[in-house]
Amino acid sequence: MKTCLECSEEIVGRQDKKFCSDSCRNAYNNKINKDSTNFMRNINNKLRKNYRILSELNSEGKSKTTRDKMLTKGFDFEFFTNVMQTKTGNTYYFLYDQGYYPLDNDSYMLVKKEI
Ligand SMILES: [Zn+2]
Repeated sequence: MKTCLECSEEIVGRQDKKFCSDSCRNAYNNKINKDSTNFMRNINNKLRKNYRILSELNSEGKSKTTRDKMLTKGFDFEFFTNVMQTKTGNTYYFLYDQGYYPLDNDSYMLVKKEI
């Protein structure tokens, strides 16, 4: 016996059906889409916030700041869009075109990528 993925009612008719009705199929798909968009929205918000903070701290295109200043503004070091390793061994973290790399004493150099 096959049951509907949404309401668990028994499905009558074709064996390849997954839902008892169109409304159950729609309800099920909407739920899946909603979960993934909420998850993505949260990450996008964090990326946008990090980007805004870097832009504020680095209006000149290149500047030095501290970890504390970034954290005070709400910067989240877990979120970035890409990582770049330089030949000299520095690791640059980027939020779109705004990047940073660690210096000594919990300082960071903020840089802007030329695009
Ligand atoms: Zn159903």
